Amino acid sequence: MPVMPLGLDPSLCFINGDWVPSTGGAHAALINPSDGSTLCDIARGTDEDIDRAVTAASEALRSEWGKATAAERGRVLAKIGHGMLQHIDELAQLEAMDVGKPLKQARADVVALARYMEFYAGACDKVHGETIPYLDGYTVYTLREPHGVTGHIIPWNYPMQIIGRSVGAALAMGNAAVLKPAEEACLTALAFAEIARAAGLPRGALNVVPGLGAEAGAALTRHSGVNHVSFTGSVGVGKLIQETTARNVVPVTLELGGKSPQLVFDDADIDAALPFLVNAGVQNAGQTCSAASRILVQRGAYDRVVAEMGKRYDAFRVGPAMDDLDVGPLISARQKAIVEGYLAQGDGLEVAGRGKIVANAPSGGAYVAPVLYAGVCPDHVLAQEEIFGPVQVIIPFETEQEALEIANGTQYGLVAAVWSQNGGRQMRLAKQLRAGQVFLNNYGAGGGVELPFGGTGLSGHGREKGFEALYGFSTLKTIAAYHM
Ligand code: NAP
Ligand code: MG
Repeated sequence: MPVMPLGLDPSLCFINGDWVPSTGGAHAALINPSDGSTLCDIARGTDEDIDRAVTAASEALRSEWGKATAAERGRVLAKIGHGMLQHIDELAQLEAMDVGKPLKQARADVVALARYMEFYAGACDKVHGETIPYLDGYTVYTLREPHGVTGHIIPWNYPMQIIGRSVGAALAMGNAAVLKPAEEACLTALAFAEIARAAGLPRGALNVVPGLGAEAGAALTRHSGVNHVSFTGSVGVGKLIQETTARNVVPVTLELGGKSPQLVFDDADIDAALPFLVNAGVQNAGQTCSAASRILVQRGAYDRVVAEMGKRYDAFRVGPAMDDLDVGPLISARQKAIVEGYLAQGDGLEVAGRGKIVANAPSGGAYVAPVLYAGVCPDHVLAQEEIFGPVQVIIPFETEQEALEIANGTQYGLVAAVWSQNGGRQMRLAKQLRAGQVFLNNYGAGGGVELPFGGTGLSGHGREKGFEALYGFSTLKTIAAYHM
């Protein structure tokens, strides 16, 4: 059993400002992916728990939280961010144990969540409406208003970052949130709730109901009192959520997966590119929606990039999260089996590099050694499907046009990068690449609190992060006053 910050009990739900047991009384086991042991039991939220949470959120909108000014909301968000940093060591350990991420990544996630709170704290009172010139005798202006109750369904790969970007922006706009964290990693969501409570967030403004997707998640999605749903996760569940919320005619933001490419041209600064090329593949053991799982390399640079990336892969050490090595375990035995299924389809491909699992890694851990494949055809299954594990493919190309076609040749469109010194090429490709974010001579897997983020195609729709998210978490009212 991990030591929870602030002595909180991980088997409870956080509803209406109180820690309460699930009405169903059932629990689910939370597994430590570094060794397969059970960390603790978490609540298995029910329809009734979700209903209580949604009711508490609606009530909050009619009372203290709903009446708070934008400046007051900002002040409490800033305090939450500060509270996260005050507990950084405990939170990082909690996340490392729960998700399996090496401690330094877990620490970076705490800092990112605090940054989201700081960013949105400062933004609360800067979302201005407009005045619109209209007919004679009229004054017309717009107001940005909260949707009301927002539902947040998040995955296990970056719990803190995703809480920051979705719950943070929703609260900034004055919504009241109900969060269903992933059953496989929910401890930092609970800690966040306690830190928010201690920071003075009024009761009901945030509610956290852990549980299974098919139970608590589905109940939240179909609840008629929910006015907006933000979902981050798989394409399959994203489609289901879009269908379900359509029945209540409720807007959704879908942040789904990706198969993001980095394009490396002959004229690129290869030394500068290399750390970004490999890190964007193995960070968080490749379980990053914006992982750059495809590396496209022009012929003149190809041999060097393959050799240098391969060398780095050979040096990667994989082991328990608390040992803080290069790569930790995957989230679960189930995810490991999925990734190994993909690796089996790589039989016959050229392996340019492979990391090593350390000798003392517990046998019950979900470890997969990172693999780098080279000379892969763009239509190979490993170059088309999201693997969500530490696996990258290198694809050679000859011309800019060919690179563009390969880059845009999947059903996804989340992030892309161009490595080239040619300014014209940078600008051409930045326009033509099908992605929600394009990086020129850098790559930001998972980073960038300030940068609007989201996809096209199967990567989803809507934008989170940055100022843009505040528009998604609010609705626009136009007021036309006639005064002669
Ligand atoms: P998932 O099954 O879609 O789970 C995501 C969340 O949805 C979890 O909280 C899950 O609950 C919940 N859920 C599952 N079924 C549901 C249902 N019927 N109704 C409502 N909620 C439901 O995804 P995953 O397997 O955990 O994560 C891996 C996938 O997520 C990858 O494809 C990856 O690309 C994608 N992902 C995308 C982003 C992004 O920002 N675009 C970020 C992270 C992950 P449980 O915890 O019970 O499963
Ligand atoms: Mg876990």
